Amino acid sequence: MAKISNRKRILVTGGAGFLGSHLCERLLSRGDDVICVDNFYSGTKDNIVHLLPNPHFELIRHDITFPLFVEVDEIFNLACPASPIHYQHDPVQTTKTSVHGAINMLGLAKRTGAKIFQASTSEVYGDPEMHPQREEYWGNVNPIGIRSCYDEGKRCAETLFFDYYRQHQVDIKVVRIFNTYGPRMHPNDGRVVSNFIMQALQGEDITVFGDGSQTRSFCYVDDLVDGFLLMMDSPQHNIGPINLGNPSEFTIKQLAENVLKHVGGSSQLVLKPLPMDDPKQRQPDITKAKEELNWSPKVSLDEGLEQTIGYFRNISWSNNA
Ligand code: NAD
Ligand code: UDP
Repeated sequence: MAKISNRKRILVTGGAGFLGSHLCERLLSRGDDVICVDNFYSGTKDNIVHLLPNPHFELIRHDITFPLFVEVDEIFNLACPASPIHYQHDPVQTTKTSVHGAINMLGLAKRTGAKIFQASTSEVYGDPEMHPQREEYWGNVNPIGIRSCYDEGKRCAETLFFDYYRQHQVDIKVVRIFNTYGPRMHPNDGRVVSNFIMQALQGEDITVFGDGSQTRSFCYVDDLVDGFLLMMDSPQHNIGPINLGNPSEFTIKQLAENVLKHVGGSSQLVLKPLPMDDPKQRQPDITKAKEELNWSPKVSLDEGLEQTIGYFRNISWSNNA
């Protein structure tokens, strides 16, 4: 179809989710036309309601496990629940979203000639035996556990991306995202940052799983979106996979103490059983992102927590419960 405007037409799947809503906002602010596709499985209209009056923003309720016919220049494929509670709620649908969703979006990219970006994950490394994790590491993933619907779904999606690249010359970009947090995380999605902040704000016990010695590295959402845009706009040969995350590593106990320090109050840390297959450590090696994208995160955990706590203090719980 003939293109009249010079604006790029960009499809964001999962655009009503935590990361997707920030990405839609950034694309609009730099002058792109954005089509946000979401089935509201784990995202909410509240995340994008402020974008609806913008004539360059379009919202389509659609499940990407079914084909989609739109004319676009670029596709950011973010659709997939990311929190263990959400993705384990309907594990078959989670794998379908990753695998059938990838096939449908890659088919769309092939037909339209669009460049396509995959939001992959550090979970492809599973419970890693290499620390920190470099892109060359193939991972240590349980194929039949309760996290497998997500981990193996995302691994298969990467396979599909690289096969569409080799077999059909589709222009691909694959990033592996490490734990990211910030405003618009769902308050009840069970991810550790939102959980700890909610518990501290409500004066409840802070639920540390296991002994709290497992580690994660937390990236603030604005830094991550910078990385997304740099990767999408990087030279064509730069296909990834590339790690995006903040290399500052914390134990979960340290995170709990840090949240308490910022929120104040009287909450106590309580130990709860560690969920099955919970990775013991996770830290990105971002050498490749530094060298190829000139990207590294700028927001410290303290600054990011302040922003995120401010958001959770202000939202109306009834809208998000
Ligand atoms: P999220 O759950 O907030 O957003 C995912 C969005 O996808 C939601 O709006 C949901 O409704 C939508 N969705 C789910 N299944 C769909 C389907 N079949 N069709 C259409 N829409 C569908 O999660 P998020 O944190 O914003 O994560 C976005 C992407 O980034 C995911 O692909 C996730 O795997 C990846 N990722 C996120 C993190 C993180 O720390 N936030 C880490 C690694 C990878
Ligand atoms: N976690 C915790 N208490 C909670 C929620 C999570 O101790 O209330 C732990 C969880 O066991 C894991 C880490 O925090 O070790 C990160 O969990 P999250 O679900 O945010 O992400 P993922 O495990 O996918 O990295």
